[in-house]
Formats: sequence, structure tokens, C-alpha cells
Amino acid sequence: MQDPAFYDALAQRALDGQPLDPDLSRRLLDDDTIDLLPLVHAAYRVRFARWGKTVQVHVINNAQNGRCPEDCSYCSQARTSDEPIADYPMKSEEEILDEARRAYEAGAHRYCMVFAGRGPGDGRTQRLADLVRQIKSRYANMEVCVSAGLLDDQKAKVLADAGLDRYNHNLNTSPRNYAKICTTHTYQDRVDTLAAARNAGMECCSGLIVGMGETRDELIDLAMTFRRMDAKSIPVNFLLPFEGTHATGADELTPEYCLRVLCLFRLANPTAEVRVAAGREVHFRSLQVMSLYPANSLFLDGYLNSRGDAAATTLQMLADAGFKIESDHDLSAVLGRVGLENLVELNVRKSERDLHPTAAT
Ligand code: SF4
Repeated sequence: MQDPAFYDALAQRALDGQPLDPDLSRRLLDDDTIDLLPLVHAAYRVRFARWGKTVQVHVINNAQNGRCPEDCSYCSQARTSDEPIADYPMKSEEEILDEARRAYEAGAHRYCMVFAGRGPGDGRTQRLADLVRQIKSRYANMEVCVSAGLLDDQKAKVLADAGLDRYNHNLNTSPRNYAKICTTHTYQDRVDTLAAARNAGMECCSGLIVGMGETRDELIDLAMTFRRMDAKSIPVNFLLPFEGTHATGADELTPEYCLRVLCLFRLANPTAEVRVAAGREVHFRSLQVMSLYPANSLFLDGYLNSRGDAAATTLQMLADAGFKIESDHDLSAVLGRVGLENLVELNVRKSERDLHPTAAT
């Protein structure tokens, strides 16, 4: 058991903008003398200083789904996956805009459009830019994010010029581990895409999938890498081992370890939007609401290929714990709105089974 001054110092260092010491980071993950509740409280102090009790709710639109030429081992759309998936081309403009409206009405702070595949061609980049312009003109206060794979400087500029707020591209795992989870592109390809997005003027959203064979030191290095990259948003996914995919390691994830990981990412990235992403329901289990003390953001429903909790259940969990949402809409109004259950179907078309493990394309 650590002295209360230990936890105070931990929070204060982060609040003062000082980086975490690697040895201390390691202890946060596996030292039994560092108790979970005061550690979560230290992380919460840091979260509160930047975000108060506000939760940023993200809604993902899985705007295109299908077998991908890449071989990311955690992904059911990868060419190497045996998981049956729904296959559909890019949704129509009308459908995507309608889903953007429903996300807005459900209190989404940010609307994320996700496209499977290695990266967009010139034609798709232009279509994406047109969609971004239309959504931004209708819902000025709802931020728009795209996750569409590898980008070069030119495509990044087209999207940035259209007003895209943020580009998501996850690093997923450590440089050493990357070749074990994917052979069709490299860790450096992902770093280069993030640089292109940032150089074009967009914010970067980049996170990882915990539980894919990374060492704890590598996990700590990733937390520091996102800090150096000035990632504005860090989705922390926890591996969901879908049948037919090949990534392993999820068995080692316990609710306590997952919480410690979130605390580490919060303390290492005091002002970033740290999101408890895929795996929230599975790996945090009864500790799920505690994830929002270090994290300040979640997906309302669905990741890329996986249904999350029903939207109303998640929103009720936020309300029960006294959190607010960052939205044009009040949380109680959103909860009371008839038809909220429709949102559950936003990301997953009827008759489709769960599709994609993480926001990680
Ligand atoms: S994560 Fe993205 S790039 Fe990798 S296989 Fe899945 S859809 Fe393709």
C-alpha cells in the first residue's frame, strides 16, 4: 500500500506536464502495492482538469465493409481471416448523411466514418471530401473524423481542405510486434500516414489494441509515442478475439489490468482525449463505468466489426455515474427520446452479424 502522497505526486507530475518515468510506468501496470482505487483517482484528477465530468460520445458509421487485401491479424475483414463478414460497397451519400443526422440527434460529439481497405484511391478521397463538406455545413458543432487507411500528402490535403477535423489511423502495436500482426504494410507506413494528416492540418487520432502479444515495456513506449506525436485522441482498444482471426493475447486481459492501462495512458497523455474503445464491455465487465475516470471518451455503439452495448444502456451508465455528454443535446433529453434504439442499428445492418473488431483500419 502506497502513502497518499505517492498518488498526489503521480497526479501532480502529469498536471505539471511532466512525462512519466518508465520504471514508474511499469509499476503502475503490475505493482500490487499501487492500489487500483487511488490510482484511478489520480488519473481522474488529471482527466478532470482538462475534461471535467464530460464524456465525448463517438458514433462510428461503418460506411464500407468487405474483404480487404491487407492481412491485419486482428481484423475479420483481412484477406487471411476466415470470419464470415457482410460485404457491401461504400454506402450511398443519402444513407451516410441520414446516419450523420441520427448520430447528431443521439448526442454524438463526433461522427466517425470508417472504410475498410488499405487506403482510399483518388475517387474515394474526393467522395469523402464531398461528404465531409455536407456534414460540416449541416451540423457545424459536430466534429467529423474519417478512418480510411493509408494516406499520402496529396490525399490528406484534399480531406483537410474539405474541413475534416480529424483523421484516425491507429499504430495498433509496437514497432517490434508489428510484423507479427501484419505483413502487408509496416508500422512506418502508419507513422507516415499520421505525419501526412498532421502536416495537412488535421488532428491525429491514433491508438492501439492492447492484448496482441506486446510486452509491458512496449505498451509504455506506445503511451510515450502518442505523447511525442501530440495525438489529440487516443482510442485504447482491447483485443476482441473473433473466430477466424489470428491475433492472440486477449486471455491475459483482466478488468484490473485494463484499468491500469487506461490510467497509464491518461497520466502519460494528460490533455489527450483518451477513449475506452473496443472491448469495453468484454474486458472491463463489472468495472466498465470505472473506465470513464481515466478515459473521457467512448464509442456509443459498435466499433468497426463489433456491436457494443445498446446505446441507451451506455448512456444510462454515464447518467448513473453523474457524467455529462459534450453535445448540443442534454443527456437526459437524449435518453428520453423515443426511437433511440434505432441508433443501435446505425452501424450494423439488420441480419448482419458482428463485423469488425476495432476502429483500427
Ligand atoms: S484493419 Fe483495415 S487495413 Fe487491416 S485488414 Fe482490416 S480493413 Fe484491412
